[in-house]
Amino acid sequence: MARHKTHYEDCDVLVVGGGMAGTGATFEARHWGRDMKIICVEKANIDRSGAVAQGLYAINCYMGMQWGENQPEDHVRYARNDLMGMVREDLGYDMARHVDSTVHMFDEWGLPMMKNEETGRYLREGKWQIMIHGESYKPIVAEAAKKSADKIYNRIMITHLLMDEAQENRVGGAVGFNMRTGDFHVFRAKAVIVAAGGASHIFKPRAVGEGMGRTWYAPWSNGSAYALPIAAGAKMTQMENRIVLCRFKDGYGPVGAYFLHLKTYTQNANGENYEKKWYDQTKELVGEYIDHHPTPTCLRNHAFIQETMAGGGPIHMVTTEAFQDPHLETVGWENFLGMTVGQAVVWASQNIDPKYTNPELTTSEPYVMGSHATCSGAWVSGPEDLSPPEYFWGYNRMLTIDGLFGAGDTVGGSAHKFSSGSFTEGRLAAKAAVKYIEDKKAEGLKVTDKQCEEFKAKVYKPLETYTVAQNEITGGTVSPSYISPIQGLQRLQRIMDEYVGGIATNYMTNANMLKRGLELLAWLEEDLENVGAEDYHQLMRAWELKHRALTSQCVTEHTMFREETRWPGYYYRGDHMKLDDDNWHCLTVSRRDPSTGKFSMEKVPVYHIVDENEKKKAS
Ligand SMILES: Cc1cc2nc3c(=O)[nH]c(=O)nc-3n(C[C@H](O)[C@H](O)[C@H](O)COP(=O)(O)OP(=O)(O)OC[C@H]3O[C@@H](n4cnc5c(N)ncnc54)[C@H](O)[C@@H]3O)c2cc1C
Repeated sequence: MARHKTHYEDCDVLVVGGGMAGTGATFEARHWGRDMKIICVEKANIDRSGAVAQGLYAINCYMGMQWGENQPEDHVRYARNDLMGMVREDLGYDMARHVDSTVHMFDEWGLPMMKNEETGRYLREGKWQIMIHGESYKPIVAEAAKKSADKIYNRIMITHLLMDEAQENRVGGAVGFNMRTGDFHVFRAKAVIVAAGGASHIFKPRAVGEGMGRTWYAPWSNGSAYALPIAAGAKMTQMENRIVLCRFKDGYGPVGAYFLHLKTYTQNANGENYEKKWYDQTKELVGEYIDHHPTPTCLRNHAFIQETMAGGGPIHMVTTEAFQDPHLETVGWENFLGMTVGQAVVWASQNIDPKYTNPELTTSEPYVMGSHATCSGAWVSGPEDLSPPEYFWGYNRMLTIDGLFGAGDTVGGSAHKFSSGSFTEGRLAAKAAVKYIEDKKAEGLKVTDKQCEEFKAKVYKPLETYTVAQNEITGGTVSPSYISPIQGLQRLQRIMDEYVGGIATNYMTNANMLKRGLELLAWLEEDLENVGAEDYHQLMRAWELKHRALTSQCVTEHTMFREETRWPGYYYRGDHMKLDDDNWHCLTVSRRDPSTGKFSMEKVPVYHIVDENEKKKAS
């Protein structure tokens, strides 16, 4: 262990993850905390890290309040509708009322925004989306963070949160290791903002073998945003609300610009509009939710999945009409070039020219995240002026551990934030974190060397395991004494896929399958004590796997708890196939006891703040 040098850094605000939320948090922490020491730690390099690494073609969350296009209330209604009623409206409203100011800063910082030539306004792709030339989106926001932080640490993976030993349930910082040097890093901090992105690769992906890395969600998003707080005993919410995406087959190219701007549409193999075929069946399951406008994303997936199971596939996107217009053809291709180059390559390799051939669509494996059309994540306090008492405990976006804040994919209950909303939520969390410190809530922190040394031993254990166990390799990578990260990952993905509602079962699960899944996950957890890593890169893989496995346990516990099918098209509880508003119009909240590893679950009321307030005003 001595061969791994330990570096200590004491700071005020520590930001874990330098993606969209993390760069927003770092930037805003400096605005409010002029004299504070602000550190951002990133697993990759913040210039090209996170889900926006490759760029984006649209900012998916912009109200346009200056032109009266939308108001925050409208966005709350939209997100509530899309998530079948289950959102934290206080968080959504709070993000929506601030998001335009974030986008205006991006514009000032040089992000090329497309403009509507007639109105001079940002060019709308849809009601909420505005179009950008966004290949350099991430380097631009990273620059703001770099200019704001005292120091950005790249290539350090945070593995554990440090807890204060002077006061119970208070965070004290975080530890991790540098994947290039192998050094151990201790960050003692008065406030920690976790902004470490969502979780892909917990369910078996459709692309396996040579194509394994190809998933819709960023393959490097490994659930640290969830595992770090879960391990420390923070409460989580809506972790059952995984997301399944309908995307272009094999390349997972985005469909938003196609539907909204190019006005393309889908059809089954016989050229029929299959969605309306499934209307009555869906109404049986979810009642009036199927009549909502726009149709909730999960219900559109549901029709896709049913049609495919009934033999109507493949499902195609009809591009051949729109692509006859040279302008729309250009937009269609550019959409990929700024965001998902791989899709263009897949089409080229499969002889698909969308001008003449309608490309196939598919539904993805499930992902866990808190910022897209889903809202898994940490249970956080809302803002003082909006939140009902059950949703407020002192500081905006603070988790149920004092001094620990979250933003972006980390935060549950607030869907449809996307890139701009995640950056905005980072700003909100940072403002509150600075206030927390100014209010002297972090006084007297105690983080002993003993705690740090114990974590250090844990962090490097996979290297030690491999060093010894490699001598027992019987052939290839097979050894009775260790498993490699890839072996563990594949086992995790099969458990989640086959028992927790992945593609193997067409997203179907039930209590018996979940119970078995939990047993298998518990055994995997035991075996992960013997994960081996031959170098620092594999050490990162080992810790990514451990974070994925803990996230998966939480997802499975939540899926077991909610005895209804709230989001058909995301997953099905075969033993409770219908949506059940009488018993389950509520949020689910879990907590894992760090000392026993056992999860406890509770229901928490979902408050429909926006229209309730309006109803009250009217009466
Ligand atoms: C394929 C795809 C397409 C999308 N399209 C759009 C779009 O068109 N428009 C739009 O507005 N939004 C879009 N989004 C959504 C947007 O990208 C996310 O909402 C946003 O990036 C979430 O921000 P975040 O900071 O929570 O996560 P991220 O931006 O992913 O950042 C997380 C960061 O944490 C780091 N990290 C992870 N674990 C650790 C650890 N243990 N230690 C240290 N660092 C760690 C990661 O390296 C990463 O940099 C898309 C997302 C995806 C995946």
